[in-house]
Amino acid sequence: MRQSQLFTKTIKETPKDEKSINSRFLIKAGFIDKLMAGVYSYLPLGFLVLKKIENIIREEINRISGQEVLLPALHPKKVWDVTGRWQYEEMFKLKNRAEKDYSLGWTHEEIITPLVKNFIHSYKDLPVYIYQIQDKFRDELRAKSGLLRGIEFIMKDLYSFHREQKDLDSYYEKVKNAYFRIFKRCGIRRQTFLALASGGAFSKYSHEFQTATPYGEDTIYLCQKCKLGINKEIIDKENHRCPKCKNKKLDVKKTIEVGNIFKLQDKFSKAFNLKFKDKDGKEKIVLMGCYGIGLSRLIATIVEVHNDKRGIVWPREVAPFDVHLISVENITNVVKVSNKLYKDLLEAGIEVLYDDRKNKSAGEKFVDCDLIGIPIRIVVSEKTLKNNCVEIKKRKEKKVNLVKIDKLIKCLQV
Ligand code: ATP
Ligand code: MG
Repeated sequence: MRQSQLFTKTIKETPKDEKSINSRFLIKAGFIDKLMAGVYSYLPLGFLVLKKIENIIREEINRISGQEVLLPALHPKKVWDVTGRWQYEEMFKLKNRAEKDYSLGWTHEEIITPLVKNFIHSYKDLPVYIYQIQDKFRDELRAKSGLLRGIEFIMKDLYSFHREQKDLDSYYEKVKNAYFRIFKRCGIRRQTFLALASGGAFSKYSHEFQTATPYGEDTIYLCQKCKLGINKEIIDKENHRCPKCKNKKLDVKKTIEVGNIFKLQDKFSKAFNLKFKDKDGKEKIVLMGCYGIGLSRLIATIVEVHNDKRGIVWPREVAPFDVHLISVENITNVVKVSNKLYKDLLEAGIEVLYDDRKNKSAGEKFVDCDLIGIPIRIVVSEKTLKNNCVEIKKRKEKKVNLVKIDKLIKCLQV
C-alpha cells in the first residue's frame, strides 16, 4: 500500500483522555479511532492487524477440529430466562417498538446450546467443537484502558460438546496447547502464563492465560518452580501455596487476561435439556466446555508488551505489513528505484507499506515509521544508491545494514 493513499494520518499530540500505552500508540499511529470510551473503530492499519490475528486463531482452532459459525448478536429474552441470566448486570437490554425485550450478546452459551440441540441426538453426533469470532457487548464500568476493556469488543468463543468427562478433559488440554500456539505466533508466549482461577459452581478451577505487563489490571502469583500462575482472587483459598507443586515461593505479577477456558460440565446442557442416546441405549446429558480469547484485548496486549518510547514494535506475524519501504528524497532516480522496488517486493509476495509521500521530510517519515512499528524498514536514498544499495533496519534493533538492491528480496525471504 502506498502511504500517500492511506486515508489516515499519524497524529502528533497524544490523545488527552487516553491513559493506556496501547490506546495512545494505536490512536496516534492511526490503527484505531475512538468513538466513545470502550468503543473503537478499526482503521486500515488496525484492520490488517485484526485480520492477521483472526487468521492465526482460525488456523489454530481449525487444527483442533473447530467448526466456524457466526451467531446472532441480537438475542431474545426467552433464552436468557432459561438460565436466569437475564438479570446479568453487564448485559445490554433493549426494547423494540412493540415493547418486546432483546439483549446484545455478551456471551453465547444460551444461543449455542439450543442450537446444537437440533443436531445432536446420538453418541455418533458427538463430540463437536463450534466457534465464532464476533463482537460482544458488555456494560463495563471500567472501560478506560483502550482496547483492553471494551464495551463493544471482539471475541473468539469456542464451545465443545462431549459424551463423557474423559473426552471433555482431553479436549480441554488440546485447547490449552492451541492457545499457547496462538500466543506464540502473536509474539507474547514468553510473557504469557497459565493461571488457575475460580471454577465457579461446577469445577474446582478454570484456567486463564495471563500476560505479564507493567500495567496489567489483573494480579497473579507465579510459582517460581513450575511457572503456574494463581489468580489473586483465589490465592487466600490456596494458602499462598502453588496447588500443583506445593511451592511457597511465588512472584507477584501484574497481568492481562488474554484468554479463559472453562469446563461448563452440564450447567447449560441441563438448563436446555441437551441429551443424547448413548451406545447402551440410555439417554445421557451432554458435557460442555467454553473457551474465550479477546481479539481486541490481544491487540492491546501485544502493544503493551512490544513498544518503546518511539512507538509500537510489532511481532512479525501480526504486523500490518512485512516491510516499510521509505523513499527519502524527491529525486528522480530515488523515486524511480523506489517505485520499482515496491513493485518487485509485492511480486515476491512481501507485504509493503510504501512511504512515497512527497511533502514529508526524511525525519518525519522515520518518526512515523517507528510509531507504526513495522518489523523491517528499508530506506532508499541518493547516498545508498551510489553503491547500488538500500539501507535495511529492524524496528527492534539499532543496527543499520546496507544491502545490494539485487540481493534485497533474497535477504528478506530468509
Ligand atoms: P475480565 O475478568 O477481564 O472481565 P472475563 O472473565 O469477563 O474477563 P470472559 O467472559 O471469560 O472474560 O471472556 C473471554 C475473554 O474475552 C477474556 O479472556 C478476555 O480476553 C476477553 N474479554 C472479556 N471482557 C472483555 C472486554 N470488556 N474487552 C475486551 N476483551 C474482553
Ligand atoms: Mg468481565
